[in-house]
Amino acid sequence: MIFTPLQARPLIIWYQTHKRDLPWRDTGDPYDVWISEIMLQQTRVEFVKDRFLQFRKELPDIPALADCSDEKLMKLWEGMGYYSRARNLKKCAQILCDNYQASLPKTAEELAALPGIGPYTAGAIASIAYGQPVPAVDGNVLRVIARYFEDDRDIRDAAVKADVTASIQQFYDSCSEELMNEFPDLPSLLNQALMELGAIVCVPNGQPKCTECPWNGTCGACLHQKTDQIPYRSALKQRRIEQRTILVILDGSRFLLHKRPDKGLLAGLYEFPGYDGYRSRKEVLDAVRKLGLSPVRIKQLPDSRHIFSHIEWHMKAYEILTDNIDQNLPEGYVLLNKKELRSFAVPSAFHTYKDWYFLQE
Ligand code: SF4
Repeated sequence: MIFTPLQARPLIIWYQTHKRDLPWRDTGDPYDVWISEIMLQQTRVEFVKDRFLQFRKELPDIPALADCSDEKLMKLWEGMGYYSRARNLKKCAQILCDNYQASLPKTAEELAALPGIGPYTAGAIASIAYGQPVPAVDGNVLRVIARYFEDDRDIRDAAVKADVTASIQQFYDSCSEELMNEFPDLPSLLNQALMELGAIVCVPNGQPKCTECPWNGTCGACLHQKTDQIPYRSALKQRRIEQRTILVILDGSRFLLHKRPDKGLLAGLYEFPGYDGYRSRKEVLDAVRKLGLSPVRIKQLPDSRHIFSHIEWHMKAYEILTDNIDQNLPEGYVLLNKKELRSFAVPSAFHTYKDWYFLQE
């Protein structure tokens, strides 16, 4: 697998005319590259666009992010899931303020040493924001290169990613002056072109749009009609299914929320109190009494599911109306009125139950 100007040149020219207009693209601000790349790790581009603009408006630079309250940060991240990404952004911003004069370092090595920044994101920031000649290999790039070189190895295998990364690095290391002069932003252009081709032409599901591709005519998988077989991806381990019982406890005007432990799934976020397994009405009422509350009425809410990366929650839920809850709550619990609940950051796993009280308005 040797990447050469024969592949790079037509791809960059295609990118320059076909790239999508995205709010973080070509702004020249490393902060934009960083925030957008982190948001895009697990979330679709169309959803990220508005969230990115909102985030940038509220937290326009690294010091603002470092000083942001956890509540505000979680609210800005609400609905995007994988909240550890947001926590790492803030942690990282604080390190940048303390050690890097509130700016992102320029080399991929330094970037990859920061919280939440892996090799791909480090390569993307270094190349796009600073023009460093380093690869940025994500799932899109792996798929595109595997198809072009007709590489039928398992793309979950780390050795495949290492080969693709090495091939692009070798291309940068031996790049001719002529090509560098033709494209002064070569690393930024080429890395983004590979990602963009994978995102909009050499797409993962269904048929790639080979007739629109700048590599049509030289791509191995296309020439040999193997685009449905390449890339090969071995099956993932099945997600573990966890049954949960969720308690929406309210005293008529206020809802009781509980802070999750500081470690583990949804660490430190507020939830409707919940228990492992499916609990009977009697068990639910006993649990509410154990919190020092007096239940008046219980009713079942709709079932719901939420998918995390390795776990799937299957939830049954109850609404429990209690006598007036006094402010002397057990540690880790808060009371919110309906208006406060609406603007409070609650993980998307609980949105079915949070939304239940607003959809009926
Ligand atoms: S020709 Fe088709 S399979 Fe090959 S890189 Fe282009 S879109 Fe992908």
